[in-house]
Amino acid sequence: SIVIENMNKWYDDFQVLKDINLTIKQGERIVICGPSGSGKSTLIRCLNHLEIYQEGKITVNDVHVFNGMKNPEAIRVEVGMVFQSFNLFPHLTVLDNCILPQLRVLGLDKVKARETAMTFLERVKIPDQADKYPAQLSGGQQQRVAIARALCMKPQIMLFDEPTSALDPEMVNEVLDTMLELAESGMTMVCVTHEMGFAAKAADRVIFMDAGQIIEDSTPTEFFENPKHERAKEFLGQIL
Ligand code: ATP
Ligand code: MG
Repeated sequence: SIVIENMNKWYDDFQVLKDINLTIKQGERIVICGPSGSGKSTLIRCLNHLEIYQEGKITVNDVHVFNGMKNPEAIRVEVGMVFQSFNLFPHLTVLDNCILPQLRVLGLDKVKARETAMTFLERVKIPDQADKYPAQLSGGQQQRVAIARALCMKPQIMLFDEPTSALDPEMVNEVLDTMLELAESGMTMVCVTHEMGFAAKAADRVIFMDAGQIIEDSTPTEFFENPKHERAKEFLGQIL
């Protein structure tokens, strides 16, 4: 589970996150949306200590995540992340992209790591691409490798930061389908995305952010049919 209490964050004197309170239970699927610059990426990057915050408290699976914590790497094993820009290692094959973090971070032996890598490459339906390099794959395939690589670490929670927004339209669905399957498997997921079809199918709650604040926290049905705030109505009007 994730518990965020009275959290505030600044970049110098610009307050990017304002009094964030949010509890995400194990197995919940959360979609975060909102206008550009509203703080969505910053918020989820605080959850695995890619960003620090100045006030309040974040707890992830009962571990206090804070500036100066002893072992931030441990939190990144429990909390996997997939980025808009894939972030694969370009000089490694697909298979080695999935193997290397298991060797480096988990200290597994290569045979076990290879087996796990193939299991997850099969799960995302690209075992046949294992020996290729990232540049030889389509964007949708690269993003599925990124998802497989994250899953190889056996995370408890997965964060997604606009995983489909850099993809050509015809590749969006193959990645969303992979995410849907993951959602159905019971994974705790926090997804920044504007794919409202995905939200409708997979999310337990939709969080709408504006100007550094959470201003709606509703079920998808409530959010789509009866958004409470003017800013949320405007936003939905623009993207739907
Ligand atoms: P988008 O939809 O465009 O990805 P976002 O909701 O993810 O937007 P963030 O990337 O979290 O927004 O940024 C929130 C605000 O913080 C923006 O005004 C941005 O310019 C600012 N910001 C982000 N990163 C930094 C940084 N490293 N230093 C200073 N300001 C930053
Ligand atoms: Mg962002």
